[in-house]
Amino acid sequence: MHKLPTVAIGVDLGGTYVRGGVVTPEGEVLFRDKRASRVDAGLQDTLDAMYSLIDGLQCMAAQKGLKAAALGVGCPGPLEPRTGVLLDPPNCPALKNVNLKERLEKRFGMSVFPIKDASASALGERWKGSAEGLEHFVFLSLGTGLGGAVVSQGRIFEGSSGMAAEIGHVSLFPDGPRCSCGSFGCAEVYLSTRGLLSRVKRLMGEDGIWDGPGLQLVQRVALMARRGDKGALEVLEGFGKDLGVLCASLANLYNPEAIVVGGGLANLWEGFSKAAIREIKRRAMPNLVQGMSLLKARLGDDAGVIGAASLAFCGKAPKGESIDRRPWGSGDVLAEGPGYKVKRLRVSPQSRLSYQRHFHRDEVWAIVSARSAFVTIDGERRPLKAGDSIAIQKGHLHRLENASDDAELVLIETQIGAKLCESDIERIEDDYGRADA
Ligand SMILES: [Zn+2]
Repeated sequence: MHKLPTVAIGVDLGGTYVRGGVVTPEGEVLFRDKRASRVDAGLQDTLDAMYSLIDGLQCMAAQKGLKAAALGVGCPGPLEPRTGVLLDPPNCPALKNVNLKERLEKRFGMSVFPIKDASASALGERWKGSAEGLEHFVFLSLGTGLGGAVVSQGRIFEGSSGMAAEIGHVSLFPDGPRCSCGSFGCAEVYLSTRGLLSRVKRLMGEDGIWDGPGLQLVQRVALMARRGDKGALEVLEGFGKDLGVLCASLANLYNPEAIVVGGGLANLWEGFSKAAIREIKRRAMPNLVQGMSLLKARLGDDAGVIGAASLAFCGKAPKGESIDRRPWGSGDVLAEGPGYKVKRLRVSPQSRLSYQRHFHRDEVWAIVSARSAFVTIDGERRPLKAGDSIAIQKGHLHRLENASDDAELVLIETQIGAKLCESDIERIEDDYGRADA
């Protein structure tokens, strides 16, 4: 049977634009498009912009005979990553408590993987950009707001409820102006378009020519700095110094291999990076920054799109990607050695794994928690409960199914055999359009 080649759609919902792309399993963006995100106009306008963008991308893919299997979406934080609820994004109040995952899944009938926007960009830069191959780095997105992500041991550092690394809301000046989050003097107040604008007005005059889209502001400041305008140079020097103060703290906290700076304001890199590096050296503990680099992100607007799409691929996790999210849930390897592998699997509500068999390995499943779950072995389906253990011998067809509406199914899977890789899976039936490896 002819199978359509599989691609994924990555979407990056920002304060100004919602961008999207059709992305291949190799991380190449085949088509890209954007709409004004209209977050000030209200929820429905923003949703309509996303729907129209995704419809368009699906059409472009279909014209080339491609079908998107899943959708990854970078959204403004904080975000409840498991449910996909946007909690209270300071720069997009209309999106408060909106379950974007649910709405998009209903509208498009495919699995949707939400992730905080800066985390998506960090994953994109790690997959195809300037953080390629890095295990420990901090990503900063300087734009309408200041987004942050911390990658530690190759994984996004999530915190207790998946919302860690709101670096933009670290206080930089305790008595500074009020921030949209309610606190005072947050890094975002200074290191964002808004921060740049107030710096420009203070040092270069209040004549109103600066008001307008953030991109124009960035281009103007860059141009004037290149011409040697004293005010513009001073703006960038101050911006770099504040960024350096923040980065020195981040270096002391996380001991990263690099801090990667992306977002629209990264286009001012030439003007601010020297001051930032100087300030990092002046403040951070020398042993922690020895060998650390401050890097400019390489992917520009594609970072969030590529990173969001990376979450949507199943069985083809991008190289170096150790966050193992699959369309049915997620898994991580607890222990591994010659001939065995122990994994913890979390199957999302209303999800099932493919009906499959292996020819070179036996599996034992220990069910940790289950509300309404089933196992099918060679056509016979029976319920599962916490505490059950199930042995599946090589050659036998099996499927795991979480029928609960809201509870995760968690199990420990031990694989024993000589060939513990994707190529030892024969998929008889799959809900997610995955081809056999
Ligand atoms: Zn804040």
